[in-house]
Amino acid sequence: MSLRASVTNRGAILLGKNVACDAFEEGKPLRVVTHAHADHMVGLQKSLRTCEKVLMTRATKDMIEVMRSPLFLMSGIVETMDYGKTIQYDDERITFFRADHILGAAQVLVEDVEAKRIVFTGDFRIEDTPILDSDALIIEATYGNPACKRSFGIDVKTALISLIEKGLKQGTVYVFGYHGKLQEIMEILHKGSVVAPFIAPEKVFHISKVCERHGMKIGRLMLATEIEAKELLEHNLPCIAFFHMESKSKVGLDSFRVCVSGWEFGSAIRQTGIKEYVVALSDHSDFNGLLEYVRHSKPEVVITDNFRVSNGEPLAREIRKRFGISAFALPQRHS
Ligand SMILES: [Zn+2]
Repeated sequence: MSLRASVTNRGAILLGKNVACDAFEEGKPLRVVTHAHADHMVGLQKSLRTCEKVLMTRATKDMIEVMRSPLFLMSGIVETMDYGKTIQYDDERITFFRADHILGAAQVLVEDVEAKRIVFTGDFRIEDTPILDSDALIIEATYGNPACKRSFGIDVKTALISLIEKGLKQGTVYVFGYHGKLQEIMEILHKGSVVAPFIAPEKVFHISKVCERHGMKIGRLMLATEIEAKELLEHNLPCIAFFHMESKSKVGLDSFRVCVSGWEFGSAIRQTGIKEYVVALSDHSDFNGLLEYVRHSKPEVVITDNFRVSNGEPLAREIRKRFGISAFALPQRHS
């Protein structure tokens, strides 16, 4: 059997004859963007200029237009895909499925001329992601190392809510995270009935509005430049300010600070300063979750994405060892 699936040195996930996901690849007529994180938009301008079509969900398109600019996607033909919708190209069929990661995230299934199923998971969290049957599976490997297991035995969301409520008693709480994750936290706090004004700088604000348009419930959010918001922040009054991780060393230095990160395996909450904490809320599967996907997907061959994080090798090794399935990491890394 010659299944066409690969990951190139530049991070393109190749499925079948025609599809390149998440990075540009010369000669592939279809480019897929599985979601709006930067490491999945590699070479997107080039793809827009040269591919016949660029496929993504409507939510991903809306997110990119806010993150980059409304004009960013206009240099090519973008076709938005609903989950479950199939398009035919040449003699292959391409279908998107939901991935529980950030708003708009998708898994991609390509069925080739022999009806073989080639699947790319994209980034995903096992808890709420449908597992697709596959013949060839390309799986993300962010936490592909056996050390990357989260077994806290407590509900991280509940712990996050209590921590933030504790912080609000002292004044403003700054929450730092990545796009998509910040909005998930807003939703957790809103649903958890945390009563405090939410404040965000411009980009986070507009991404939140996109999330709201696509059905997320985040409650009332103020722009950080509004007078009311400025006053709250200036006087360190109880409110929650959501900033991108890159602002961590620039704002809220003397306030109560919560950083949200997936790279935490020891405990759900870890104190890192007098008023600073890290919360282990991840939008990726841990090691066990990755293996669970493979087990249920029943592929004949697995390729682990070794481009985005270098845990592809250990994951491939464990898959071979535990399931006896042919598995290897791509691209190969030479150290
Ligand atoms: Zn991602």
